[in-house]
Amino acid sequence: MATTISKSDSVARFKFKRSLDELSRKEGRGTELISLYVPPDRKIHEVLANLREEAGTASNIKSRTTRQNVQEAIEKVSQKLRLWKEPPPTGLVIFGGAIPQNGPGSERMELYTLVPPEPVDVYFYRCDSRFHLEPLQALAAEKESFGILVIDGQEAVVATLKGRRVDIVQSFTSGIAGKHRTGGQSARRFERIREQMTNDYYKRVGQHFNDIMVQVPDLKGIIIGGPGPSKYVFAEGEFLQYVLKTKVLSIVDTSYTSEAGVEEVVERSAEILKGVRYQEEKQLVQKFLYELGHETGKASFGEANVQRHLEKGIVDTLLISETLEGERLLVKCKSCGYEEQGRGTRFEMDAFKSGLASKSCPRCGKQTLAVEKEVDVIDDMLDYAEKSATQVEVISVETEEGRMLRDSFGRVAAVLRYPAK
Ligand SMILES: [Zn+2]
Repeated sequence: MATTISKSDSVARFKFKRSLDELSRKEGRGTELISLYVPPDRKIHEVLANLREEAGTASNIKSRTTRQNVQEAIEKVSQKLRLWKEPPPTGLVIFGGAIPQNGPGSERMELYTLVPPEPVDVYFYRCDSRFHLEPLQALAAEKESFGILVIDGQEAVVATLKGRRVDIVQSFTSGIAGKHRTGGQSARRFERIREQMTNDYYKRVGQHFNDIMVQVPDLKGIIIGGPGPSKYVFAEGEFLQYVLKTKVLSIVDTSYTSEAGVEEVVERSAEILKGVRYQEEKQLVQKFLYELGHETGKASFGEANVQRHLEKGIVDTLLISETLEGERLLVKCKSCGYEEQGRGTRFEMDAFKSGLASKSCPRCGKQTLAVEKEVDVIDDMLDYAEKSATQVEVISVETEEGRMLRDSFGRVAAVLRYPAK
Protein backbone atom coordinates (compact mmCIF):
# COMPACT_ATOMS: atom_id res chain seq x y z
CA MET A 1 0.00 0.00 0.00
CA ALA A 2 1.39 3.35 -0.99
CA THR A 3 1.60 6.01 1.65
CA THR A 4 2.64 9.57 1.10
CA ILE A 5 3.81 11.98 3.71
CA SER A 6 1.30 14.78 3.92
CA LYS A 7 2.44 18.31 4.49
CA SER A 8 1.06 18.44 8.01
CA ASP A 9 3.10 15.30 8.76
CA SER A 10 6.26 17.14 7.81
CA VAL A 11 5.30 19.91 10.24
CA ALA A 12 4.54 17.36 12.95
CA ARG A 13 7.89 15.72 12.32
CA PHE A 14 9.66 19.05 12.46
CA LYS A 15 8.01 19.80 15.82
CA PHE A 16 8.95 16.37 17.11
CA LYS A 17 12.54 16.95 16.01
CA ARG A 18 12.61 20.28 17.78
CA SER A 19 11.46 18.82 21.09
CA LEU A 20 14.20 16.20 20.76
CA ASP A 21 16.74 18.95 20.09
CA GLU A 22 15.64 20.72 23.25
CA LEU A 23 15.88 17.55 25.30
CA SER A 24 19.31 16.77 23.87
CA ARG A 25 20.65 20.06 25.26
CA LYS A 26 19.63 19.23 28.82
CA GLU A 27 22.37 18.07 31.12
CA GLY A 28 22.30 16.85 34.67
CA ARG A 29 24.67 17.88 37.40
CA GLY A 30 25.84 14.30 37.74
CA THR A 31 24.57 10.93 36.63
CA GLU A 32 21.01 11.62 37.62
CA LEU A 33 18.78 11.96 34.57
CA ILE A 34 16.32 9.14 33.97
CA SER A 35 15.29 7.88 30.53
CA LEU A 36 12.54 5.27 30.45
CA TYR A 37 11.27 3.60 27.26
CA VAL A 38 8.15 1.47 27.58
CA PRO A 39 7.15 -0.54 24.48
CA PRO A 40 3.42 -0.97 23.66
CA ASP A 41 3.21 -4.55 24.93
CA ARG A 42 4.81 -3.96 28.35
CA LYS A 43 2.68 -4.16 31.49
CA ILE A 44 2.78 -0.92 33.48
CA HIS A 45 2.93 -2.74 36.84
CA GLU A 46 6.02 -4.65 35.69
CA VAL A 47 7.75 -1.42 34.77
CA LEU A 48 6.80 0.09 38.12
CA ALA A 49 8.30 -2.94 39.87
CA ASN A 50 11.54 -2.42 37.90
CA LEU A 51 11.59 1.22 38.92
CA ARG A 52 11.22 0.25 42.58
CA GLU A 53 14.26 -1.99 42.16
CA GLU A 54 16.19 0.84 40.55
CA ALA A 55 15.27 3.12 43.44
CA GLY A 56 16.62 0.47 45.79
CA THR A 57 19.89 0.28 43.85
CA ALA A 58 20.11 4.07 43.90
CA SER A 59 20.15 4.05 47.71
CA ASN A 60 23.79 2.90 47.41
CA ILE A 61 24.87 6.10 45.65
CA LYS A 62 27.49 7.81 47.81
CA SER A 63 26.84 11.47 47.03
CA ARG A 64 23.85 12.57 49.07
CA THR A 65 22.61 15.14 46.52
CA THR A 66 22.91 12.72 43.62
CA ARG A 67 21.19 9.96 45.60
CA GLN A 68 18.30 12.23 46.54
CA ASN A 69 17.98 13.58 43.01
CA VAL A 70 17.96 10.11 41.43
CA GLN A 71 15.44 8.77 43.92
CA GLU A 72 13.20 11.76 43.47
CA ALA A 73 13.44 11.46 39.68
CA ILE A 74 12.50 7.76 39.84
CA GLU A 75 9.55 8.61 42.09
CA LYS A 76 8.31 11.36 39.74
CA VAL A 77 8.73 9.15 36.68
CA SER A 78 6.75 6.42 38.45
CA GLN A 79 3.99 8.90 39.25
CA LYS A 80 3.77 9.84 35.57
CA LEU A 81 3.71 6.20 34.58
CA ARG A 82 0.85 5.43 36.98
CA LEU A 83 -1.35 7.81 34.96
CA TRP A 84 -1.43 5.13 32.23
CA LYS A 85 -3.39 1.90 32.51
CA GLU A 86 -1.43 0.50 29.61
CA PRO A 87 1.12 2.02 27.21
CA PRO A 88 -0.31 3.77 24.12
CA PRO A 89 -0.11 1.80 20.84
CA THR A 90 3.23 3.37 19.94
CA GLY A 91 4.72 3.02 23.43
CA LEU A 92 5.67 5.61 25.97
CA VAL A 93 8.84 7.49 26.78
CA ILE A 94 9.40 9.39 30.03
CA PHE A 95 12.39 11.58 30.85
CA GLY A 96 12.98 13.07 34.25
CA GLY A 97 15.64 14.55 36.44
CA ALA A 98 17.07 17.55 38.22
CA ILE A 99 18.37 20.05 35.68
CA PRO A 100 20.53 23.00 36.72
CA GLN A 101 18.72 26.14 35.56
CA ASN A 102 21.41 28.64 36.24
CA GLY A 103 24.61 27.22 37.67
CA PRO A 104 25.10 24.80 40.59
CA GLY A 105 22.40 24.67 43.25
CA SER A 106 19.70 25.87 40.84
CA GLU A 107 18.49 22.37 39.90
CA ARG A 108 14.81 21.93 39.21
CA MET A 109 13.01 18.65 38.63
CA GLU A 110 11.91 18.47 35.00
CA LEU A 111 9.65 15.76 33.55
CA TYR A 112 8.75 15.01 29.97
CA THR A 113 6.34 12.41 28.65
CA LEU A 114 6.45 11.61 24.97
CA VAL A 115 4.19 9.39 22.92
CA PRO A 116 6.28 8.47 19.87
CA PRO A 117 4.71 9.12 16.44
CA GLU A 118 5.59 5.53 15.45
CA PRO A 119 6.01 2.40 17.54
CA VAL A 120 9.15 2.25 19.66
CA ASP A 121 9.77 -1.39 20.48
CA VAL A 122 12.60 -1.08 22.96
CA TYR A 123 12.42 -1.36 26.69
CA PHE A 124 15.08 0.39 28.62
CA TYR A 125 15.86 2.32 31.75
CA ARG A 126 18.96 4.52 31.92
CA CYS A 127 20.33 6.85 34.51
CA ASP A 128 22.93 9.14 32.99
CA SER A 129 24.05 12.77 32.85
CA ARG A 130 21.90 13.23 29.75
CA PHE A 131 18.65 11.93 28.33
CA HIS A 132 18.90 8.98 25.92
CA LEU A 133 17.16 10.00 22.74
CA GLU A 134 18.63 7.70 20.09
CA PRO A 135 15.54 5.48 19.50
CA LEU A 136 13.40 8.60 19.09
CA GLN A 137 15.94 10.31 16.88
CA ALA A 138 15.78 7.34 14.54
CA LEU A 139 12.03 7.99 14.20
CA ALA A 140 12.58 11.66 13.47
CA ALA A 141 14.83 10.80 10.56
CA GLU A 142 13.49 11.30 7.07
CA LYS A 143 11.18 8.55 5.92
CA GLU A 144 11.87 8.68 2.21
CA SER A 145 13.06 5.52 0.55
CA PHE A 146 16.02 4.92 -1.69
CA GLY A 147 16.67 2.16 -4.16
CA ILE A 148 20.05 0.45 -4.28
CA LEU A 149 21.45 -1.73 -7.02
CA VAL A 150 24.87 -3.34 -6.74
CA ILE A 151 25.89 -4.98 -9.98
CA ASP A 152 28.85 -6.52 -11.76
CA GLY A 153 29.15 -9.00 -14.61
CA GLN A 154 28.40 -11.97 -12.38
CA GLU A 155 25.74 -10.91 -9.93
CA ALA A 156 23.36 -8.16 -8.93
CA VAL A 157 21.49 -7.27 -5.74
CA VAL A 158 18.47 -5.00 -5.39
CA ALA A 159 17.84 -3.39 -2.00
CA THR A 160 15.83 -0.58 -0.49
CA LEU A 161 16.92 1.85 2.19
CA LYS A 162 14.30 3.51 4.39
CA GLY A 163 15.63 5.59 7.24
CA ARG A 164 18.32 3.30 8.55
CA ARG A 165 16.59 0.13 7.53
CA VAL A 166 18.02 -1.86 4.63
CA ASP A 167 16.00 -4.56 2.91
CA ILE A 168 17.59 -6.90 0.39
CA VAL A 169 14.77 -7.46 -2.09
CA GLN A 170 16.23 -9.70 -4.77
CA SER A 171 19.52 -11.18 -6.00
CA PHE A 172 20.48 -12.28 -9.53
CA THR A 173 23.33 -14.19 -11.10
CA SER A 174 24.32 -13.80 -14.71
CA GLY A 175 25.10 -17.48 -15.21
CA ILE A 176 27.95 -16.43 -17.48
CA ALA A 177 31.03 -18.63 -17.29
CA GLY A 178 34.59 -17.37 -16.88
CA LYS A 179 36.38 -15.59 -19.70
CA HIS A 180 38.90 -17.98 -21.22
CA ARG A 181 37.95 -21.02 -23.23
CA THR A 182 39.38 -22.03 -26.56
CA GLY A 183 41.08 -19.98 -29.31
CA GLY A 184 40.24 -19.27 -32.95
CA GLN A 185 36.83 -19.38 -34.52
CA SER A 186 35.06 -20.75 -31.46
CA ALA A 187 36.57 -17.98 -29.29
CA ARG A 188 34.83 -15.30 -31.37
CA ARG A 189 31.62 -17.26 -31.32
CA PHE A 190 32.01 -17.72 -27.58
CA GLU A 191 32.55 -13.95 -27.20
CA ARG A 192 29.34 -13.21 -29.13
CA ILE A 193 27.38 -15.59 -26.95
CA ARG A 194 28.88 -13.96 -23.87
CA GLU A 195 27.82 -10.51 -25.04
CA GLN A 196 24.32 -11.72 -25.76
CA MET A 197 24.12 -13.37 -22.36
CA THR A 198 25.39 -10.25 -20.61
CA ASN A 199 22.84 -8.12 -22.38
CA ASP A 200 20.06 -10.54 -21.43
CA TYR A 201 21.28 -10.46 -17.84
CA TYR A 202 21.20 -6.64 -17.73
CA LYS A 203 17.72 -6.70 -19.25
CA ARG A 204 16.50 -9.23 -16.72
CA VAL A 205 17.93 -7.23 -13.81
CA GLY A 206 16.50 -4.02 -15.32
CA GLN A 207 12.99 -5.43 -15.65
CA HIS A 208 12.93 -6.67 -12.08
CA PHE A 209 14.55 -3.52 -10.77
CA ASN A 210 11.93 -1.39 -12.53
CA ASP A 211 9.10 -3.56 -11.19
CA ILE A 212 10.45 -3.36 -7.65
CA MET A 213 11.16 0.38 -7.67
CA VAL A 214 7.78 1.50 -8.98
CA GLN A 215 6.22 -0.17 -5.95
CA VAL A 216 8.40 1.65 -3.42
CA PRO A 217 6.41 4.47 -1.80
CA ASP A 218 8.14 7.87 -1.63
CA LEU A 219 11.10 6.72 -3.71
CA LYS A 220 13.47 9.62 -3.40
CA GLY A 221 16.38 8.36 -5.44
CA ILE A 222 18.53 5.49 -6.61
CA ILE A 223 22.16 4.67 -5.96
CA ILE A 224 23.96 2.23 -8.24
CA GLY A 225 27.19 0.60 -7.13
CA GLY A 226 29.57 -2.17 -8.05
CA PRO A 227 33.27 -2.95 -8.41
CA GLY A 228 33.55 -2.87 -12.22
CA PRO A 229 32.19 -1.11 -15.31
CA SER A 230 28.80 -2.91 -15.22
CA LYS A 231 27.27 -0.20 -13.05
CA TYR A 232 27.94 2.44 -15.73
CA VAL A 233 26.72 0.25 -18.56
CA PHE A 234 23.57 -0.41 -16.60
CA ALA A 235 22.97 3.21 -15.55
CA GLU A 236 23.61 4.59 -19.03
CA GLY A 237 22.01 1.87 -21.14
CA GLU A 238 18.35 1.32 -21.91
CA PHE A 239 17.69 -0.96 -18.96
CA LEU A 240 16.11 1.51 -16.56
CA GLN A 241 12.74 3.17 -17.02
CA TYR A 242 13.07 6.82 -17.96
CA VAL A 243 11.62 8.13 -14.67
CA LEU A 244 13.88 5.88 -12.64
CA LYS A 245 16.88 7.00 -14.67
CA THR A 246 16.23 10.59 -13.61
CA LYS A 247 16.26 9.43 -10.00
CA VAL A 248 19.81 8.07 -10.07
CA LEU A 249 21.62 10.17 -7.48
CA SER A 250 25.00 8.61 -7.61
CA ILE A 251 27.06 5.81 -9.12
CA VAL A 252 29.62 4.54 -6.63
CA ASP A 253 32.59 2.21 -6.70
CA THR A 254 32.47 -0.65 -4.26
CA SER A 255 35.01 -3.33 -3.43
CA TYR A 256 32.40 -6.06 -3.27
CA THR A 257 29.21 -7.19 -4.94
CA SER A 258 26.28 -8.96 -3.28
CA GLU A 259 25.18 -7.96 0.21
CA ALA A 260 28.63 -6.73 1.25
CA GLY A 261 28.45 -4.31 -1.70
CA VAL A 262 25.04 -3.11 -0.54
CA GLU A 263 26.53 -2.48 2.91
CA GLU A 264 29.27 -0.37 1.35
CA VAL A 265 26.71 1.69 -0.55
CA VAL A 266 24.63 2.17 2.61
CA GLU A 267 27.70 3.32 4.53
CA ARG A 268 28.33 5.99 1.96
CA SER A 269 24.68 6.85 1.44
CA ALA A 270 24.50 9.23 4.41
CA GLU A 271 27.08 11.43 2.71
CA ILE A 272 25.36 11.14 -0.67
CA LEU A 273 21.94 11.94 0.77
CA LYS A 274 23.27 14.87 2.71
CA GLY A 275 24.59 16.22 -0.57
CA VAL A 276 21.18 15.66 -2.15
CA ARG A 277 19.47 17.53 0.68
CA TYR A 278 21.90 20.47 0.37
CA GLN A 279 21.13 20.58 -3.33
CA GLU A 280 17.41 20.73 -2.52
CA GLU A 281 17.98 23.47 0.02
CA LYS A 282 19.92 25.49 -2.54
CA GLN A 283 17.09 25.14 -5.03
CA LEU A 284 14.46 26.12 -2.48
CA VAL A 285 16.30 29.31 -1.58
CA GLN A 286 17.06 30.01 -5.23
CA LYS A 287 13.36 29.77 -6.05
CA PHE A 288 12.75 32.46 -3.44
CA LEU A 289 15.64 34.57 -4.83
CA TYR A 290 14.19 34.22 -8.32
CA GLU A 291 10.80 35.58 -7.20
CA LEU A 292 12.55 38.37 -5.35
CA GLY A 293 14.89 39.25 -8.24
CA HIS A 294 12.11 39.24 -10.83
CA GLU A 295 9.86 41.31 -8.61
CA THR A 296 6.97 38.92 -9.05
CA GLY A 297 5.54 40.03 -5.71
CA LYS A 298 5.68 36.41 -4.55
CA ALA A 299 8.74 36.71 -2.33
CA SER A 300 8.49 37.59 1.33
CA PHE A 301 11.18 37.66 3.99
CA GLY A 302 11.80 38.71 7.57
CA GLU A 303 9.79 37.51 10.51
CA ALA A 304 7.15 40.25 10.54
CA ASN A 305 6.40 40.10 6.80
CA VAL A 306 6.32 36.34 6.59
CA GLN A 307 4.16 36.11 9.72
CA ARG A 308 1.65 38.52 8.14
CA HIS A 309 1.47 36.42 4.97
CA LEU A 310 1.15 33.22 6.97
CA GLU A 311 -1.79 34.68 8.84
CA LYS A 312 -3.43 35.47 5.48
CA GLY A 313 -2.86 31.85 4.44
CA ILE A 314 -1.08 32.72 1.19
CA VAL A 315 2.32 31.13 1.81
CA ASP A 316 3.16 28.30 -0.56
CA THR A 317 6.62 27.46 0.78
CA LEU A 318 8.02 28.57 4.11
CA LEU A 319 11.81 28.55 4.48
CA ILE A 320 13.03 28.58 8.06
CA SER A 321 16.72 28.81 8.82
CA GLU A 322 17.79 26.16 11.32
CA THR A 323 19.27 29.06 13.28
CA LEU A 324 15.90 30.74 13.88
CA GLU A 325 14.65 30.62 17.44
CA GLY A 326 13.10 32.74 20.13
CA GLU A 327 9.91 34.08 21.61
CA ARG A 328 7.60 37.01 21.16
CA LEU A 329 6.08 38.66 24.21
CA LEU A 330 3.24 41.07 24.55
CA VAL A 331 3.53 43.09 27.73
CA LYS A 332 0.61 45.11 29.01
CA CYS A 333 0.26 47.57 31.87
CA LYS A 334 -2.59 46.49 34.18
CA SER A 335 -3.18 50.10 35.22
CA CYS A 336 -3.23 52.15 32.01
CA GLY A 337 -3.35 49.57 29.24
CA TYR A 338 0.03 50.53 27.76
CA GLU A 339 1.34 47.79 25.45
CA GLU A 340 4.83 46.78 24.46
CA GLN A 341 6.17 44.00 22.22
CA GLY A 342 9.29 42.06 23.00
CA ARG A 343 11.22 39.67 20.80
CA GLY A 344 14.36 37.78 21.67
CA THR A 345 15.92 34.42 22.32
CA ARG A 346 14.24 32.30 24.96
CA PHE A 347 17.07 33.17 27.33
CA GLU A 348 16.69 36.92 26.74
CA MET A 349 12.94 36.74 27.16
CA ASP A 350 13.29 34.84 30.44
CA ALA A 351 15.57 37.59 31.73
CA PHE A 352 13.13 40.21 30.45
CA LYS A 353 10.22 38.52 32.23
CA SER A 354 12.01 38.26 35.54
CA GLY A 355 12.91 41.95 35.35
CA LEU A 356 9.34 42.97 34.66
CA ALA A 357 8.12 43.14 38.27
CA SER A 358 10.59 45.87 39.14
CA LYS A 359 10.13 47.82 35.90
CA SER A 360 7.94 50.93 35.80
CA CYS A 361 5.38 51.52 33.07
CA PRO A 362 6.78 54.17 30.70
CA ARG A 363 3.33 55.79 30.48
CA CYS A 364 1.88 55.81 34.00
CA GLY A 365 4.99 55.01 36.03
CA LYS A 366 3.37 52.24 38.07
CA GLN A 367 5.01 48.84 38.47
CA THR A 368 2.08 46.98 36.96
CA LEU A 369 3.54 45.58 33.73
CA ALA A 370 2.61 41.96 33.07
CA VAL A 371 3.02 39.40 30.28
CA GLU A 372 -0.21 39.32 28.28
CA LYS A 373 0.83 36.87 25.58
CA GLU A 374 3.87 34.70 25.00
CA VAL A 375 4.54 32.73 21.84
CA ASP A 376 7.37 30.66 20.48
CA VAL A 377 8.20 32.24 17.11
CA ILE A 378 8.56 28.96 15.22
CA ASP A 379 5.55 27.25 16.82
CA ASP A 380 3.44 30.21 15.88
CA MET A 381 4.58 30.07 12.25
CA LEU A 382 4.08 26.31 12.09
CA ASP A 383 0.54 26.58 13.42
CA TYR A 384 -0.40 28.93 10.59
CA ALA A 385 1.52 26.84 8.06
CA GLU A 386 -0.39 23.76 9.10
CA LYS A 387 -3.75 25.51 8.71
CA SER A 388 -3.12 26.47 5.10
CA ALA A 389 -1.13 23.39 4.00
CA THR A 390 2.05 25.38 3.55
CA GLN A 391 5.15 23.40 2.68
CA VAL A 392 7.68 23.94 5.46
CA GLU A 393 11.39 23.51 4.83
CA VAL A 394 14.10 23.89 7.41
CA ILE A 395 17.25 25.18 5.76
CA SER A 396 20.69 24.42 7.15
CA VAL A 397 23.59 26.85 7.03
CA GLU A 398 25.75 24.32 5.18
CA THR A 399 25.20 26.00 1.82
CA GLU A 400 25.89 29.51 0.58
CA GLU A 401 22.13 29.94 0.06
CA GLY A 402 21.41 28.78 3.60
CA ARG A 403 23.84 31.32 4.98
CA MET A 404 22.19 34.03 2.85
CA LEU A 405 18.84 33.15 4.39
CA ARG A 406 20.39 33.55 7.83
CA ASP A 407 22.44 36.67 7.18
CA SER A 408 20.48 38.69 4.63
CA PHE A 409 16.82 37.72 5.01
CA GLY A 410 16.18 37.60 8.73
CA ARG A 411 16.33 33.77 8.95
CA VAL A 412 12.92 33.27 7.42
CA ALA A 413 11.58 33.64 3.88
CA ALA A 414 8.56 32.57 1.92
CA VAL A 415 7.35 32.03 -1.62
CA LEU A 416 3.73 33.13 -1.80
CA ARG A 417 0.91 31.45 -3.71
CA TYR A 418 0.12 34.72 -5.48
CA PRO A 419 1.55 38.22 -5.39
CA ALA A 420 0.89 40.04 -2.15
CA LYS A 421 -0.43 43.56 -2.34
ZN1 LIG B 1 0.83 52.03 32.78
